[in-house]
Amino acid sequence: MPEGHTIHRLARQHTPLLVGGVVSASSPQGRFAEGAQVLHGRTVVGIEPYGKHLFYGFTGEVLLHVHLGLYGGWTVGSGPPPQPRGALRLRLVAGEHWLDLRGPTACELYTTADRDAVVARLGPDPLRRDADPARAWARIRASRTAVGSLLMDQSVLSGVGNVYRAEVLYRAGLSPFRAGREVPERLWEELWADLRMLMRAGVRAGHIVTTAREDRSRRSGPPRLEDRFYVYRRTGLPCRRCGAEVRTEVMATRNLYWCPGCQPSSRPRAGSSA
Ligand SMILES: [Zn+2]
Repeated sequence: MPEGHTIHRLARQHTPLLVGGVVSASSPQGRFAEGAQVLHGRTVVGIEPYGKHLFYGFTGEVLLHVHLGLYGGWTVGSGPPPQPRGALRLRLVAGEHWLDLRGPTACELYTTADRDAVVARLGPDPLRRDADPARAWARIRASRTAVGSLLMDQSVLSGVGNVYRAEVLYRAGLSPFRAGREVPERLWEELWADLRMLMRAGVRAGHIVTTAREDRSRRSGPPRLEDRFYVYRRTGLPCRRCGAEVRTEVMATRNLYWCPGCQPSSRPRAGSSA
């Protein structure tokens, strides 16, 4: 699933292609035919990313709400658009450019009130300037839920996904099994600042890198794919810092990765001395 950095990057990429332009909209697949008809001929006034949501504003206070979910994606090009193929939910054409949307979880028309209702349910997005981390902290400090689950809860923090969850907890030296209310405030402040820094870097690069140069197997040049993370998808490999075996287990429906050496667990484990 795309994480917040991908959504913010899409908004940045789509803004110069769409904003200020009149679009022609169609739904070759047919599933968004009526919505496309409403968008057709309107001017795009702005694109707002919020967590994993995208809101495209059109004249007449019409909003297009897009959530890519696990399988959705945009394809962008210029020149004559290709012959529509497959499940093409929405095609927007503006000037030279065409933007094709396939497989989203949500592609629907919204009013401003609909947008506000969605946003009201979202926690602060570390990539937004108006983000208020105190709102997330109020939830975390009062919760018995494991911090590894809380970070994936979009009503606590929005935009954080499975990669950032695992990596930011590792970098904070925090066990994912620690209850939210047992997380020291100082550690939360560090974690928030680290998330902002890592996610901003993700927007710039278009992919996630969390490792410091000295922790990579090759220290010069751009990080190779296998050198980008500390724990994510490194099950069974030695930790870059302490050598302990990286572990995995499902938490909040997704595989969680952590290092038992760098992130010692306070969780009691039946039948285990670990
Ligand atoms: Zn370690």
